[in-house]
Amino acid sequence: MNIVFHFLFGLLMAELVFGNALAYLPYILVFSLLVDLDHIPYVLRFRRGLMEKKFGSESRSRFHELYGMTVLSIAISAASFFINPKLAGIIALSVILHYAVDFVAGNTRPFYPLSGTEVNVGLYPKKFRIVTEAILTAVLVIILWLAM
Ligand SMILES: [Zn+2]
Repeated sequence: MNIVFHFLFGLLMAELVFGNALAYLPYILVFSLLVDLDHIPYVLRFRRGLMEKKFGSESRSRFHELYGMTVLSIAISAASFFINPKLAGIIALSVILHYAVDFVAGNTRPFYPLSGTEVNVGLYPKKFRIVTEAILTAVLVIILWLAM
């Protein structure tokens, strides 16, 4: 899913779960997009052929799959002893939503690097991916505009 959707979805869910999400905007922005930093080496490696290759499961490192979710969950749980519990909850929600959206919306390799088996939930045909993402992102913008 695109980074705008990840951020806006994290913002909306933080508002619904915790309230006053705008006060935590920088944290939601950073932690809803943190996982996608592993796309940078992929983009640098395939910049000429990126339009053909796109961002499939091979563009993700182990930190973009269950392995990374486990590592980040442990780190956030440990950090929750030292930071505001609401902030820890917002950070955890932002990170977990990223993994959940990526799992539902695209091709993933959940057990990578142990297994390269690709999983696709199949909510919509792959050929409509860009249109579907654009529509969902626009709907999120409208919901946030009305809700905040
Ligand atoms: Zn992602």
